Amino acid sequence: MKKMNIAGKVSMLTALFVLLFSSLSFAATVPGGPSTEGKTNINSMLSYEEVVKTLTDIEQTSKGKVEVFTLDRFGKSEQGRSIYVAKVGTGEKKVWIQAQIHGNEKLVTEAALQLLKTYASNNSKDVQTVLEESTLYFIPMYNPDGAEMNTRGTKIAETEQYLDLNRDWVSEGGFAAKESKVVYSYWAELKPDFAIDLHHQGLKQVYGTNEATSFSLGVSLAPNGPTLPNYKNYNDVTRQMLAYVYDEMSGYGYTHIDRYQIVDRQNQIGYDIDIKGGVVSAMMMGLNYNGLNPDNHSHPAVFFETKGNSSEGSLGQKSNGYLTKQNYLALKSLVYGYVTGEVEEVDPNHWNDIPAYPLAGYWTDYNGIVPVESSGF
Ligand SMILES: [Zn+2]
Repeated sequence: MKKMNIAGKVSMLTALFVLLFSSLSFAATVPGGPSTEGKTNINSMLSYEEVVKTLTDIEQTSKGKVEVFTLDRFGKSEQGRSIYVAKVGTGEKKVWIQAQIHGNEKLVTEAALQLLKTYASNNSKDVQTVLEESTLYFIPMYNPDGAEMNTRGTKIAETEQYLDLNRDWVSEGGFAAKESKVVYSYWAELKPDFAIDLHHQGLKQVYGTNEATSFSLGVSLAPNGPTLPNYKNYNDVTRQMLAYVYDEMSGYGYTHIDRYQIVDRQNQIGYDIDIKGGVVSAMMMGLNYNGLNPDNHSHPAVFFETKGNSSEGSLGQKSNGYLTKQNYLALKSLVYGYVTGEVEEVDPNHWNDIPAYPLAGYWTDYNGIVPVESSGF
């Protein structure tokens, strides 16, 4: 690949990045895509209050299988809301499932709650296996304030500063948001074995096709990227997990799935994300913030990105059911594959078979874009 002018690329890509995450401008051009008529009607999506009520209902009807609690002993959100956890299962492996760290990414909360309901009430063999082998910890609404404001990030109460919780990073003196501190504190105490983080993304196309991506599979610290190998080596296991999900989803008939990338549409190249910010990356790096994780406990984590969000009118009522089900099935499959060890049987290089744009580099939150040539791989 020819040498790039990095400064130029960065500013151009910043513009593209903004475009990607404010997808209105080209959403209308996607055939069969979601409605672009103003803001998505969020009345049909769960409010904070409804999430709390749903959790309480699930707990009550679960005959003791599900336990719901808040993280109030570690604090509350910037606006004083409790962050809820639902626990189910009796097994040794601890699986962490978080949704809606971005408040305008609504359907993932619905999917997480549906899966919790399945674990609470379904007696099928695969569900029983999961519950015997693992204990699952759901955080269905990580960012309740953002959810209520219908914004991606949140507002720090003291400074009124807007903050993306998934970029909250400690190198400059600690997590800024209460949500990050609360969730991190709980994570450090719990010491999970594996985490899945659920998101929505702007519209993109599967490389080499005219198909809108419905679902992307990613890792916040890119496999074989510049950061992760300096901490713990999760390059293989994260790729196995994503390849496993990819196969499972194809098996269910779901297509238009690709690897999560920030895409330069004009040049038809992609950048893998490689960010240290956010609690999920802290999990993978084994961050010891405030002395809460002195043995540097860490574990692999992956994320899913579903099409559209609710603050830019890029979710349509028609597709919501489909998108929620897709998330639900991917989540359920990966948990099962992880718990049973099926994931470990996947060839990590099968990850290369997930559709992706030619990799041009890594999109970091600490060193701009790191071109692929200089990353050592
Ligand atoms: Zn997100």
